[in-house]
Amino acid sequence: MNDTWPLIERYSKPFGQLAGFKKNLFDGNDAQLKRSLDLASRYLAQPRRSNCKICPAGLPSAPDFTKHGVPYVFCPGCGHLNGCHQDTEDYARQVYIDADYGAGYHSSDLATYSARVDAIYLPKVEFLVEILSALGEQPDALSYVDLGAGSGHFVAALSKRGFDASGAELSKSQVAHGNAIMIDLGYASNKARSERLVHVELDELQGFAAACPADVVSLVGVLEHLLDPHALLQALRGNPRVRYVFLSLPLYSLSVLIEAAFPNVAPRLLEGGHTHLFCDRSLEALETRHQLTRLAAWWFGSDSMDLFRALRLTLAENSDTAALSDEMAARMAPMLDELQGVVDRARFCSEVHLLYALRR
Ligand SMILES: [Zn+2]
Repeated sequence: MNDTWPLIERYSKPFGQLAGFKKNLFDGNDAQLKRSLDLASRYLAQPRRSNCKICPAGLPSAPDFTKHGVPYVFCPGCGHLNGCHQDTEDYARQVYIDADYGAGYHSSDLATYSARVDAIYLPKVEFLVEILSALGEQPDALSYVDLGAGSGHFVAALSKRGFDASGAELSKSQVAHGNAIMIDLGYASNKARSERLVHVELDELQGFAAACPADVVSLVGVLEHLLDPHALLQALRGNPRVRYVFLSLPLYSLSVLIEAAFPNVAPRLLEGGHTHLFCDRSLEALETRHQLTRLAAWWFGSDSMDLFRALRLTLAENSDTAALSDEMAARMAPMLDELQGVVDRARFCSEVHLLYALRR
């Protein structure tokens, strides 16, 4: 790879079965909303955030907007959307441990776990394979470590593809759950591979990143949750074995506006553990700071699904408009992929996947 490497840009991914996996967001709106509001009040109790989470700029004291009582401000330096309070260790404990962050992601039965691996995680692996192959690598000759692996869906997808993959996770219950399921699914059939996931404590994560024997390290929906994302990226830079970093990050996007406009609908993007969101400029700031060369980007989000859910719930909760809820659903459901495609192309989508080379 050199400076002439053409950046590969991809847009969109059909929702397919995704609506089914997120069914609890439709069925359990009241409970989800209550949980979000509870976390918002806990977040408000944390000290003010004085500097941008991504660049060194100081943040203005007056917020740009407030949502569910939480003030937010766009960084004057890099455009990053920052919650005006800090995501302290105490807050992280309340979000990820007390509130059982993984609850929504548990796939308790094999069929559901396997379907989630196939629908959501295998496409990420195929994307990686395509880019790495284009770089002249042999993807099956590389080793992969997933940090913040949860119940191991991405590790399972890599393993299913026949790759040497393992993961580290902070939640002991998710490690046990994922290891058991991967054995049952045959992704860890021999003793040496019986534990593809290992448990690490929060204060061990950086040390693990600095020493893990991986060519490719992935952080899928993880970096934004870390109290100090920069320290983790520095640890990876200090690990001479690591050449590629694969990230999935949440973005300031149409979903943020939808969430702000529909306060009675449980938010999915800017809430709970997501106290800050990336934009084009703050991604560039992150890349400059950590000497990351962007090799490929895949822009796709769930914004149109969030709009659909907001309309569906809001129309249904008022007797004057309740009859329109099904009418809206019948008309909009067939359009969701195409609507999302427009949002993705504009890079105003809720998520981006990025493959980076570490420059040394
Ligand atoms: Zn900034």
